[in-house]
Amino acid sequence: MAAIGKERLGLYISIPFCRSKCTYCNFASGVYPASDHRRYVDRLVEDMRGSGAWAAKMGVALPRNVDTIYLGGGTPSVLEPNLIAALFGAMREEFAVDPNAEITVECAPGQIADETLDALVEAGVNRVSLGVQSFIDREAHVSGRLHSRSVVLSDLGRLRAAGIRNLNVDLIAGLAGQTAASWEESLSVLMDSGVTHASVYMLEVDEDSRLGREMLGGGARYYAELVPTDDAIAQMYERAIERLEGAGLRQYEISNFGQAGLLSRHNLRYWKRRPYLGVGLDASSMLLESSGGHVLRSTTMDDLKGFLAAPEPAETSWLSPDRQHEEAWFLGLRLNEGVNLSEMRGEFGNERVATALDAVSELIDRGLLTSDRETVRLTAQGRLLSNDVFQQFLATPSDRNGVAAGGPAR
Ligand code: SF4
Repeated sequence: MAAIGKERLGLYISIPFCRSKCTYCNFASGVYPASDHRRYVDRLVEDMRGSGAWAAKMGVALPRNVDTIYLGGGTPSVLEPNLIAALFGAMREEFAVDPNAEITVECAPGQIADETLDALVEAGVNRVSLGVQSFIDREAHVSGRLHSRSVVLSDLGRLRAAGIRNLNVDLIAGLAGQTAASWEESLSVLMDSGVTHASVYMLEVDEDSRLGREMLGGGARYYAELVPTDDAIAQMYERAIERLEGAGLRQYEISNFGQAGLLSRHNLRYWKRRPYLGVGLDASSMLLESSGGHVLRSTTMDDLKGFLAAPEPAETSWLSPDRQHEEAWFLGLRLNEGVNLSEMRGEFGNERVATALDAVSELIDRGLLTSDRETVRLTAQGRLLSNDVFQQFLATPSDRNGVAAGGPAR
């Protein structure tokens, strides 16, 4: 099962505040008054202080040494500088943060004030992820983004001048109005910008987002009729792989590309099933049982009002070794390096791994997986249909599921 050993922890801090709501977004994020920012950060600090007691109560190991921190959301850069300082101060009081820890903050272009940038540098932030989505201004605006291409490029320059050189840009294939030509242009600008990392997502419209409701119910406010077809989106994604790889941004996960040595260490933790603690709204944790082979997964509530007033316990489920084995397949297959069969057998035993090999053979026959005997990987087609592939590894009902008292947020 997942090894505890002298494992280090990853910390995920959810900041659910944005300046505006994107049309396709259905995250637990929104536009809230500054007074809520202060109350929310107070809660985060309190929850981090209570995390050790909660872990002990749940019977899971909570490593004190932290080697990756990720502030996501939402748009963490909307926090006032004094709140950024308070949050990182509390984090460093509660945990021993490695001197070479990767510390990432998601920022919205055009929303990084000079004082905010100073506060991020002061806090030790060494990686920034910019939610660009498109370098074509009209596509960004139609999606509800407030920035322009020139603002993004200026922010990248400011971040580098401040000493933050490990920079990620997110792009989305499938925005309303996007065409093959405009996608090529976005990719060219991204590559010319010299960023060290890119995340490229194929738009999946949630039916509860404003765009999703318009796609289902009709209307013209969010330009639903201009959303490209699934085939066009798939072609954009394949083109991104070709072009980014050609520019030295190697694909290492379905949606992620990076220069050698600058892959996202925090996100790799999720796919490699290394422990992390999520603090804040709608935050997930994965921690290993202190004695025994189970893994605890938990997720906190996603309603900000309730979270600030009277937080409910996190929803938790214990993953048995069978369930962990399934996860090892569908998380490991996300990575281009694939799933190593010897390592799987070493961790889960021959018998358990053998139960998955029928599904593997069938998926190889369908052209969605490839195998060189030692390693199993997604094919290019498998990456486009990855959810179908992962579904094949979900067979065993989890045991010991349920809602337990407490949660990392409490
Ligand atoms: S910035 Fe991110 S979290 Fe905020 S509304 Fe847009 S997509 Fe959602």
